[in-house]
Amino acid sequence: MRAVKLLDARRVEVRDVPDPCPEGEEVVVRIEAGAICGSDLHGLYERPGEKLCIPGHEAAGVVVAVDRPRQFKVGDRVCALAFNACGQCDLCRAGYVAYCRAMRAVHGFSRDGFHAELARIPESALLSLPEAISFEEGCLILDPVGTPYHSLQRMGVNAVHTVGVFGLGPMGLGAVLVAVHLGARVIGVDPISFRRNLARKLGAVETVDPAAVDVVKRIRELTNGYGLDRSAECSGKPEALHAALDLARPFGHVAIIAESAQATIRPSDHFNRKEILLSGSCCFPLGEYGDIIRMYAVGLRVRDLITHRFPIEQAAEAYAVFAEGNTGKVIFTHG
Ligand SMILES: [Zn+2]
Ligand SMILES: [Zn+2]
Repeated sequence: MRAVKLLDARRVEVRDVPDPCPEGEEVVVRIEAGAICGSDLHGLYERPGEKLCIPGHEAAGVVVAVDRPRQFKVGDRVCALAFNACGQCDLCRAGYVAYCRAMRAVHGFSRDGFHAELARIPESALLSLPEAISFEEGCLILDPVGTPYHSLQRMGVNAVHTVGVFGLGPMGLGAVLVAVHLGARVIGVDPISFRRNLARKLGAVETVDPAAVDVVKRIRELTNGYGLDRSAECSGKPEALHAALDLARPFGHVAIIAESAQATIRPSDHFNRKEILLSGSCCFPLGEYGDIIRMYAVGLRVRDLITHRFPIEQAAEAYAVFAEGNTGKVIFTHG
């Protein structure tokens, strides 16, 4: 089969590698759509050195070969999770497989991922994908739809809220899409005009360019001094989290969705005197899959997140285009 290999920083090649074989409860899935994620860029593509695993952790496809399956059969449509979790610990049993206490591997990082024609995946990492959801929409469930959905749910986002989304990469754009779907008034923040425009297309009522204006001042103006009820930090930038905390109204809630190593807070201003809640997450629990599927069924415009489609043979171009920043979601598909 053909598969993407990351040979060095910004060096991508598509190679012939042996087809995976099914083994026990691990089935082989033909990848019909796979997405490139921000974590593929920062965690793999931009880092020096050859990466041993095939990248990619967001995919949907069809089961094409099985050995001793318990759940899936050849021909089943599936959405893949990145996590090969133990299935036994308390967190797995609660559906929080991303936080498994005995994680075996993560596709695309510590075992072969989905930027390939085929992938061998444990059944426990597969979810059944309904007929009504296309593969390209299905491959976006794991990260850009499911992760923000979970964070917005934890914050109880609803139609009386003004929600700030800081960072309008795919995760932030997904947060805009879902928050708008939940009825919130959304203000998006990003320095890239392509992404601000896309956020408005997805339903954000206002967007702010942090390179051009003082974000805190501008959003205070846009909210008549009230501030933000809820915020999703999707940029990974310490100053964005700081702005979100500054802008949170008393008893507001901020969720950290983007990865970042550090940030500064002002505990007295942000917490003692405003009683803000701060949460974070990197995936949705399996128990929310049904809700996410129902959101698709009632018209969540997931397809609008996708701006670029490439066959896997053009992986080098796909990664380069995504890294440039003038995109929504970039996916591999057969077209
Ligand atoms: Zn991802
Ligand atoms: Zn576990």
